[in-house]
Amino acid sequence: MPPRTRFLPYQPKTILNKGPRADHWFWTRYSAYPYLGCQHGCEFCYCREQKFFPHKTPGAALPAYDAAADPFSHLIKVKENAPQLLRKALARLPLDVLFTGDYQPAERKFGLSRQMLEVCLDLGFPVFILSRSPLVLRDLDLIQAIHRRARAMVAFSIITTPDSPDYARVCRMERLAPPAAKRFAAMQQVAAAGIPTGTVAMPLLPGLCDDDANLQSLARWTAGHGGGFMLGSGLTLSDQQRQYFFGVLGQLCPDLLAHYQKIYPPGSYGPAGPGWPPFGRRIRTACQAAGIRHRIPRQVVPGEKRSLNKRVAEALADALYTLEIEDAPQHRIWAYRKAAWAVDDLEQELGLFYKTMGRKGLESLPGIGPGMAEVVAGMIKTINQQDSAN
Ligand code: SF4
Repeated sequence: MPPRTRFLPYQPKTILNKGPRADHWFWTRYSAYPYLGCQHGCEFCYCREQKFFPHKTPGAALPAYDAAADPFSHLIKVKENAPQLLRKALARLPLDVLFTGDYQPAERKFGLSRQMLEVCLDLGFPVFILSRSPLVLRDLDLIQAIHRRARAMVAFSIITTPDSPDYARVCRMERLAPPAAKRFAAMQQVAAAGIPTGTVAMPLLPGLCDDDANLQSLARWTAGHGGGFMLGSGLTLSDQQRQYFFGVLGQLCPDLLAHYQKIYPPGSYGPAGPGWPPFGRRIRTACQAAGIRHRIPRQVVPGEKRSLNKRVAEALADALYTLEIEDAPQHRIWAYRKAAWAVDDLEQELGLFYKTMGRKGLESLPGIGPGMAEVVAGMIKTINQQDSAN
């Protein structure tokens, strides 16, 4: 018998996390969530890590994790003042994409995700929502309104499909979340409403859903339900989350426990083995076969003054991602990363900057040398040509 969920009223002082610029995976610069803890309780969730664990007492040592009570999934802190804090924080910031929305069951009762979206609509902020639940459909009207004004995207966390022979076993790992088939059905409705959507396949669990057949199936189901992309990555394990997960694995998939203990030796975070590049290539191959992207497209607010900066930064980040999964030398990867940051950080509009300052102007940006200036100039030209053709 699982423990009863308890909701703890909570009045934090701040709500917004802010990066120096948008990240290169979800293209979000800000994030804000209304709940701490998650009733979906996915057994692999990284939020049980000490670093993210929501029930820490400042200054006190963390007690051993109580696996039976699983406080992460049954003790939910409700940030009652989330919409007000968000409004205050966003009012002072430049427009960029906010990672928000939390559609665990608590949202039916408290409705804070919807109120936070209303703030985004009021202030004209673009949003990125990642959901493991069709409950997000309740707010489709609001998400459409945000998309018309500032852009919105709704992705679904899905790591397997009903076609997989291990579907039932994976479902047991996320047994409190709505089944994957329902999430795909929700994706179809989001796509039909004109909102960009796709799959975030994280974490792809070794031996359960990281095989080519499942990747191909995920990509096919995504394309078949109107999704335009699938972004994937593997499982990370750390401190108390590792202990918890190994305990669950011993109960649900005892045949895999020794394998996991071998590929996640003590002190490791990611799995031992061939590493990320071949995995990234397999995800790309699956996406290409299904005709979808293996990267999330960047959202740019219509009419935004620095839209060219953002699009060139996106092209540079896509190029660096390709270099990463092709196992290119680190110095080449870093050259593209630094260039993407420099272009994103440039306060002037990139097209005008290039027109007035020329190639030398690009070379004056941090981390951009003559070779990269040529790459950036080429990207500006290509994007301008595409725009003129449309
Ligand atoms: S839905 Fe996401 S946040 Fe919630 S438990 Fe699952 S992985 Fe963690």
